[in-house]
Amino acid sequence: MEYQQQFDVIVIGGGHAGTEACLAAARMGCRTLLLTHSVDTLGQMSCNPAIGGIGKSHLVKEVDALGGAMARATDRAGIQWRVLNARKGPAVRATRAQADRVLYRNAIREILESQENLSIFQQGVDDLLIEGGRVAGAVTQMGLIFRAPQVVLTTGTFLGGKIHIGLENSAGGRAGDPPAIALANRLRELPFRVERLKTGTPPRIDARSVDFSQLEEQWGDEPVPVMSYLGRAEEHPEQRCCWITYTNERTHEIIRGGLDRSPMYSGVIEGIGPRYCPSIEDKIHRFADKSSHQVFIEPEGLNTSELYPNGISTSLPFDVQYELVRSIVGFENAHITRPGYAIEYDFFDPRDLKYSLETRAVPGLYFAGQINGTTGYEEAAAQGILAGLNAALASRGEAAWCPRRDEAYIGVLIDDLITMGTLEPYRMFTSRAEYRLLLREDNADLRLTEQGRKLGLVDDQRWQRFQEKCEAIELESARLASTFVHPTTPEAEALNSKLKTPLSREYSLADLLKRPELSYQDVAAVKGQALADSQAAEQVEIQAKYSGYIARQQEDIERLRRYENAQLPKDLDYATVDGLSNEVTLKLNEARPETLARASRIPGVTAAAISLLLVYLKKRG
Ligand code: FAD
Repeated sequence: MEYQQQFDVIVIGGGHAGTEACLAAARMGCRTLLLTHSVDTLGQMSCNPAIGGIGKSHLVKEVDALGGAMARATDRAGIQWRVLNARKGPAVRATRAQADRVLYRNAIREILESQENLSIFQQGVDDLLIEGGRVAGAVTQMGLIFRAPQVVLTTGTFLGGKIHIGLENSAGGRAGDPPAIALANRLRELPFRVERLKTGTPPRIDARSVDFSQLEEQWGDEPVPVMSYLGRAEEHPEQRCCWITYTNERTHEIIRGGLDRSPMYSGVIEGIGPRYCPSIEDKIHRFADKSSHQVFIEPEGLNTSELYPNGISTSLPFDVQYELVRSIVGFENAHITRPGYAIEYDFFDPRDLKYSLETRAVPGLYFAGQINGTTGYEEAAAQGILAGLNAALASRGEAAWCPRRDEAYIGVLIDDLITMGTLEPYRMFTSRAEYRLLLREDNADLRLTEQGRKLGLVDDQRWQRFQEKCEAIELESARLASTFVHPTTPEAEALNSKLKTPLSREYSLADLLKRPELSYQDVAAVKGQALADSQAAEQVEIQAKYSGYIARQQEDIERLRRYENAQLPKDLDYATVDGLSNEVTLKLNEARPETLARASRIPGVTAAAISLLLVYLKKRG
């Protein structure tokens, strides 16, 4: 049967990529349909109930700056908040929230259900409708046909999903959810490069069986941070404590004893796992000299006694999981509520995508999230919003948009995936961005909200708040630059008490703010009134203190931008370029970068090779 209503955009999958994708398309005025296995698992966190962290909170705040849902839902669900790298520079500072799983899901569902232009339908998708070589809709398990010229696929770990516990395995999308087998088979018929990856999760523990007296407590930070630019700490639910314990020699012995029945070490699992989120058996194997590993014990929510022991993800057989858990201090009598497991799934080589996340092989079909070889809710959400907004742009007949590497971590993520592809689950780090000082989590709105407004993603409330903030920053920066302190005045005396060398001449407040000993509050209140808006005040301070470094990064970007425009011919055979090594020639012939700047980011393509390409382009005229 064919469903009566026509849609502009269909999104398949209601995880972190899918929810942002359908919200973005609907915000931009497209008639949007979300097709997902279950309405009850919208926004479900498959693994750790936490959002943010290093590199990841940058993505969440960028999604927020473009009007997305993840940060707002986190503000309503975060039960413990921390600022990581708080003592380091603002470029690498990151916000992380432990979330109540149920509150998070509820918040996402409420945002989806109050979004205009968005319909939700619960049903697995088994097939894609392809007409004249381009996508035309989706076909559900019961044969219902939904039509739309743009379809965004965000099926996470579900395509051909296989769950492993010890040497036993079963089909599943994640524990308790069915896999997507028919759709996986259908996609394998299409001209995409498909590979397998794997990821894993720890056993969950019942708090009532844990001896907390032996554990280190860990409380969140004060003042409690927020994730969204519109967020307020008062929105957060009750705050909770986490705990720390450690594995020991005995734990490691138990694990080593079970390795012959580990699906990873006996060759049952073919897919590669996340390097930065390794299983405990992986850690024991890779860091054989370490006698102990840290385990963070995190509550799964306010109204449940389940705990998430972060650091002991495993797919060992259940009897080994049981022993290893009970060998850990505090867990001597622990009751496991859910066994840990690993999951293997299909992913598609992201080098087959355009910057819009549209597939090159099937026009109108977009891929976003774990399906592109990434890992993590935040990476999924970032791709989701991009795919959703580009599907909406395409349906309006407008050109695609993707931020550049110097504009957003979203730009870094997409560029990395599309130029380099990935052999293992890709996660974001601040070290992946070459312009870290510009791409801070505190200024994602200043980098992206105006663009989001132009695209139709940013509503009036966010836009008004943003404009007020920009105006406050501008006025305050101007005030500090035009307000002077003379060395013989009481104001100078107040400042001298904090300075290593007292003021010897007249300075503007803006110049004084560059001094490491002085904070914005010290300087701003010395003459006149400091800003009450803490977000605007933070910007005034960072922009003043780091102005030299920021200017230098901007110069670098300008220099590279001159390259960025140098197009490389589509049909260029790199073997004909004088001086290139065989290795570089192979890489370039395979990646076929569109511009010189993109060529420069392919690993192994050296600065010398770029100079040779530049010479070639100049000669060619
Ligand atoms: P998902 O969140 O998986 O959402 C996919 C959605 O699509 C689901 O709602 C599903 O029901 C729906 N769907 C799938 N197929 C169909 C279909 N045919 N028709 C209709 N709907 C469909 N991330 C980390 O960062 N670190 C980790 O250590 C980690 N461990 C993990 C361990 C496990 C066991 C699992 C399952 C995941 C783990 N993750 C981890 C990954 C994290 O869950 C994902 O990165 C994230 O959820 C990806 O978001 P997504 O939107 O791409 O997919």
